[in-house]
Amino acid sequence: MFNKILIANRGEIAVRIIRACREMNIQTVAVYSEIDKEALHTQLADEAICIGPAPAKDSYLDIKKIISAAIVTGANAIHPGFGFLSENSKFAKVCEECNITFIGPTGDMMDRMGNKSKARETMVENNIPVVPGSEGAVANVEEAVKIAEEIGYPVIIKASAGGGGRGMRIANDSDELYNSYKTASAEAKSAFGDDTMYVEKYITNPRHIEFQILADNYGNTVHLGERDCSMQRRHQKVLEESPSAAITDELRKKMGEVAVKAAKAINYRNAGTVEFLLNDTGEFYFIEMNTRIQVEHPVTEMVTGIDLIKGQIQIANGDKLDYSQKDINIKGHAIELRINAENPSKGFRPSPGDISFLHMPSGKDIRVDSAIYCGYKIPPTYDSMIAKLIVFDKDRKSAIKKLNSAIGEFIVEGVDTNIDFQYELINDDSFIRGNYNTSFIEKFMER
Ligand code: ADP
Repeated sequence: MFNKILIANRGEIAVRIIRACREMNIQTVAVYSEIDKEALHTQLADEAICIGPAPAKDSYLDIKKIISAAIVTGANAIHPGFGFLSENSKFAKVCEECNITFIGPTGDMMDRMGNKSKARETMVENNIPVVPGSEGAVANVEEAVKIAEEIGYPVIIKASAGGGGRGMRIANDSDELYNSYKTASAEAKSAFGDDTMYVEKYITNPRHIEFQILADNYGNTVHLGERDCSMQRRHQKVLEESPSAAITDELRKKMGEVAVKAAKAINYRNAGTVEFLLNDTGEFYFIEMNTRIQVEHPVTEMVTGIDLIKGQIQIANGDKLDYSQKDINIKGHAIELRINAENPSKGFRPSPGDISFLHMPSGKDIRVDSAIYCGYKIPPTYDSMIAKLIVFDKDRKSAIKKLNSAIGEFIVEGVDTNIDFQYELINDDSFIRGNYNTSFIEKFMER
């Protein structure tokens, strides 16, 4: 087993990885930017190395600095977490060239799945259902219009290199398509340095259902059930739960098999997530695969009892999965709320600053993954997510009850948060009935 792992990330996920390493008797190295000197991950790791100024491009995205930090400290593996360099194939390749194990898939696997239009092509070749649309990327707006006319409006145009809901636009007719193509490709160019676009039929009111995959280096691939991530604002997840209220055992089996097939199509290894859209008549379509651990991984951990971060480390170490699909049991119900420092009444504007008072909930089967503490100053530089509140109970109804009690105890003073917004969301009748889709929040906010 590795004796030292460098964590190329910050915030709650860095802390989560440090904890897993500690339980596995693995030494940890944190890297931090100048503004993160007092951050929890910097303090909790066995060693910490400053890698530059606050802007991510000068620190958490700087491959040379991170590799140097690993070499100087003698770390023999790097965990990238999510965001930052986690889906950067060049980084994964440089790690391997420097004899440092990248905890994740190979750079080549990332290249095959990371480009969303190429991934679509791979799925089509393997008879995996994708949303009707362009075969791969389109060459220009005229081609996009031609395809839209064939499949019918509304359509959604997406950036091949996209992520985080950016570089995506819906179009209801050709005029809109001409306009949105321009704005979406410009957004993609500036955010990802790549303005390649593709077209999909816009599915109305779908559920976002994703399957957690774990695959070892010897071809053993399993899924750990689904997560329902339909609660979204601007295509960004707000709340996630497992199992989904929309999935029967039969559909889980069917979608799970397709998800495993998608991963096997590229001989995928380590943890990954296959994302689908599910319509109300039970048809489902692949949209993308994320080649990393996800923010919402804890809900899967709660219902399967499997520690996904430890699983990632063991697989990267060359361990064989010591269970197969039939050994995986989904038990009970888990829900996660993303707690952000933002102001919902001001367009969800980020609210960085000093935390003057903090009380986080706890109790049986109540988990808070966070890196904030009383007196901590949330920097304006990074993502606004400050905590994840996850609860587990025997069924959905009890889990919602527990979530209500737990969120009522969550007090953050000094900055604005979305806690009250989340409270209203989980007390909405449709949510309680499990009856919601990706357009839910938009309508919820119009009320
Ligand atoms: P990103 O990589 O930016 O996260 P995704 O392709 O995963 O983008 O899509 C994010 C969300 O956008 C989905 O969960 C869904 O809500 C919406 N979406 C994406 N494609 C479609 C589609 N074809 N029809 C309807 N909604 C879609």
